[in-house]
Amino acid sequence: MSDVSERAEAALADYEEPLGWTLREDRLIGIVRDLLAELRRLERDKRVDNRINLTIGRERDALQAKIDAVKALHTGRIGMCEYCTDGPLVPYPCDTIQALGEP
Ligand SMILES: [Zn+2]
Repeated sequence: MSDVSERAEAALADYEEPLGWTLREDRLIGIVRDLLAELRRLERDKRVDNRINLTIGRERDALQAKIDAVKALHTGRIGMCEYCTDGPLVPYPCDTIQALGEP
């Protein structure tokens, strides 16, 4: 629970006390202003979270594309890695494919 919501709850609990209408209205206006400020802060934080998630998603997709490009190079043919085999035969999956966690 935030400070604003705690203050709002406490003020509303006090609302039952015999206060003058002007004071009550002032307090209610203050509560509404505090709640609106809190709402604006939450909306701003949500926009920041959305931007961060979008950036993370783009970075994840870019990294996955690089991994896919490496996998496309290191393909197996008759049990040998076509990319790594340049002279001595390199069994498939080669060290690169195994490092990527592929079988
Ligand atoms: Zn390879």
